[in-house]
Amino acid sequence: MLGGMSESKRLAAVGRTVNDAEWEAISARRTKGRPFLFVVTSTGIVCTPGCPARSPGRDRVRIVSGLDEGLAAGARVCLRCRPDRLFGAASAPSSAPVQTAIARLTAALASGDEVPTERDLAGELQVPERRLRELFRESLGVTPRAWLSARRAEMLRSRLADGQDVSAALYDTGYGSSSAAYEAANGELGMAPGRYRGGAVGESIHWTIAPIPEGVALVAATERGLCSIRLGHDAEALAAELRAEFPLATLARDDDALAGVASIVSDLAVGRRRPEADSLPIDVYATAFRRRVWEAMRRIPFGETRSYREIASVVGAPGAARAVGTACAQNPIPVVVPCHRVVGSDGSLHGYASGLARKRQLLDAEAEGVAGGGATSAARPAILSQFTPD
Ligand SMILES: [Zn+2]
Repeated sequence: MLGGMSESKRLAAVGRTVNDAEWEAISARRTKGRPFLFVVTSTGIVCTPGCPARSPGRDRVRIVSGLDEGLAAGARVCLRCRPDRLFGAASAPSSAPVQTAIARLTAALASGDEVPTERDLAGELQVPERRLRELFRESLGVTPRAWLSARRAEMLRSRLADGQDVSAALYDTGYGSSSAAYEAANGELGMAPGRYRGGAVGESIHWTIAPIPEGVALVAATERGLCSIRLGHDAEALAAELRAEFPLATLARDDDALAGVASIVSDLAVGRRRPEADSLPIDVYATAFRRRVWEAMRRIPFGETRSYREIASVVGAPGAARAVGTACAQNPIPVVVPCHRVVGSDGSLHGYASGLARKRQLLDAEAEGVAGGGATSAARPAILSQFTPD
């Protein structure tokens, strides 16, 4: 309580009322045009006009001049539209300590030296330990420890992919024991290393077919989340590709179990907004870098695009536009992980696993969906509950 004011009263006094043009942009979820920020007084959240969350009532909207004004009044950053990523430039944290810390960790990992702890790093960089964690979270979305474990997992994965045997790869990447690696692998890699190497032996994968414009999508999931989406013209051919990718898994078509996810894929492909897609769990084996790229793609608002270069800078690897392109091309969950929203700096379309015509179709469908008010499908199946946690 600040001076006896309740939070909603304090927020109701922040900034100024919304004008007609702004209100129009907010209610139409318009992402183009002059950007601005507003606080939703009922939820205490700072949003941008394109926010996919439910539109607030007009009397609950207060326009603020910047993120700081909203945060100072006690509002929080919206996790859906992330105004801090779009408008945080002025108040963005310096990424220098993060870059230095990463260089230090990478060198230690590569040389097999003892890896500095968060406390060691903070001491070397002369920032408080807690601040270092904050800076990491703000620029990479993870703590230094989580980054390190993802990086180790990435090294492990590339050694396994090179054909090294599991125990030697574990030893080389500094895992103390195989149980530590498997534990990390569950969090960082999706499927455990041995399973991946073995063609997903022992995994049980369900799949279904979803209609999309001029074709079909095969949607496949383990009990932990989506593991593959394939776009094409022939369901049989896509099923054969799935078997080739996971030769030792138990595959079963199950239209009922995956009906909710299938409807999301179908809707997205015709340009219908399905915000639930952003929270669908995925279960794929990937390097930490690719995972970051995919997460960044999932944050590109429906109907918008970003360049490879912009994504590279969002994931903290400016200059790695080419690697971002590769990560896009190898995205195993197209449509749900919207790699089609990543285009050349000049707007040109590049590599899409199922062809540029499909990429163009998805972009056009979204553009039409946005122009048509970005209709959201009313049905909201209990898609998340069908995946058992862990
Ligand atoms: Zn928002």
